[in-house]
Amino acid sequence: MTYPTQPTASHYINGQYVEDTAGAEIPVIYPATGEVIATVHAGTETVVDKALAAAKAAQPAWAAMTGRERGRILTRAAQIIRERNYDLSVLETWDTGKPLQETLVADATSAADALEYFGGLAGSLTGEHIPLGENWAYTVREALGVCVGIGAWNYPTQIACWKASPALACGNTMVFKPSETTPLCALKIAEILTEAGAPPGVFNVVQGMGETGAQLVTDPRVAKVSLTGSVPTGKRVYSAAASHMKHVTMELGGKSPLIVFEDADIDNAVGGAILGNFYSSGQVCSNGTRVFVHSAIKEQFLTRLAERLKGAVIGDPMDEATSFGPMVSERQLEIVLGYIAKGKAEGARLITGGNRLETGGFFIEPTVFADVTDEMTIAREEIFGPVMAVLDFTDEDEVIERANATDFGLSAGVFTRDLSRAHRVIGKLQAGACFINSYNDAPVEAPFGGVKASGVGRENAKAAIEHYSQLKTVFVRMGDVEAPY
Ligand code: NDP
Repeated sequence: MTYPTQPTASHYINGQYVEDTAGAEIPVIYPATGEVIATVHAGTETVVDKALAAAKAAQPAWAAMTGRERGRILTRAAQIIRERNYDLSVLETWDTGKPLQETLVADATSAADALEYFGGLAGSLTGEHIPLGENWAYTVREALGVCVGIGAWNYPTQIACWKASPALACGNTMVFKPSETTPLCALKIAEILTEAGAPPGVFNVVQGMGETGAQLVTDPRVAKVSLTGSVPTGKRVYSAAASHMKHVTMELGGKSPLIVFEDADIDNAVGGAILGNFYSSGQVCSNGTRVFVHSAIKEQFLTRLAERLKGAVIGDPMDEATSFGPMVSERQLEIVLGYIAKGKAEGARLITGGNRLETGGFFIEPTVFADVTDEMTIAREEIFGPVMAVLDFTDEDEVIERANATDFGLSAGVFTRDLSRAHRVIGKLQAGACFINSYNDAPVEAPFGGVKASGVGRENAKAAIEHYSQLKTVFVRMGDVEAPY
């Protein structure tokens, strides 16, 4: 397969594509067929060094530009991304296997939203004036320096831009390492930023596995690391960054609760549960994979859910009628099948799905288990696939306690027509991104991130600015200095 958008080399450094075939080969596999569609090379130490040197050299001049100048470049990049939405969506589909029906509306568009939003904010990133009688102090919001972004494989375009947009708006430069599973999309973002006017070195992309990430995280030239990935990787990266006292943002995994009360609009609750479990074939960190349904409506909920799942169109992701694609990789497919087997073995009731589809690609049916209990593996561990666990409850306090009984704390949702209850329950749930009568919305205007083991810091919204800048405080004395001796 070839397509005009395909990147032309493995890395993007100092405003241009760079190849170094000395690095290990990373095959890029199209998940819908298992076909190798491209090969990139992992960054060698020389490549990583070159990218960091480029980012370091570019940073002072980038930070010295006015915020509006930087913002204009980001906004221009957003505009180019929107103009090329179709091609970029095709590339995202190749990289991840997600259906074009999704990628056309959720990936490049979300990347453009972030560039546009932070491009708009860049001109108004200010400090404050602090009056102290006749003296005063002021704060200056300064860039951190070189930031490293490390991405997961589920949203390669979006993750690159959710990290690059606030970082660049604040005057930082970035070296981004995509997941080895989905290396292509971030390269196009780098190319587009250059076309939009970003000076060489402002946004660089280096391919590689975990070791490349580790090399980036510990380099003394790096001031901040932002990771999207699993909790175990997050712990490793956080501690490596801590030993060098670097800033971090950690966007990690979840096992989020979605609570459906007996007075909920059943169709909306089923819709929320579908979005929160099967969009992107379940490969979404914020998914509400523990669906607590009040016993009084459980069978009605399950019947309606099974009916609606018959409407999923599973197949060729490039066909815009397809609404459900494959797992990103054979490895992820095996992981998910392992969890389905555990669900059955531990006594959960399989309502629908549960099988691999023999198509040559990495497809698994949308799968729903009912009668799941809190101790079962499928209720405790993040699966990152299309497997919904439905658990029963009867009492509000009980369900809140059970919902919070996890180390994760990324998201939580409540479906009820009782607004007091909705706010009361959400107020007690330990999660960073919550939903009332909705699920999985992530507009750039609202902060996103987790509590507990699900993360540190926030992406998106004005909150992200706090994590990509630091304050310098300047005290100004107007009179004489009175020293004791
Ligand atoms: P991983 O944690 O396996 O990897 C994440 C990234 O970190 C990859 O680029 C990986 O490289 C890199 N990496 C691995 N080890 C190290 C290391 N020691 N030092 C530096 N970098 C390293 O996650 P997945 O890619 O499997 O993505 C799935 C996970 O991401 C899920 O747990 C999911 O919940 C989470 N996620 C969280 C989101 C959020 O915003 N909260 C959003 C999306 C996903 P490589 O893979 O090339 O080895």
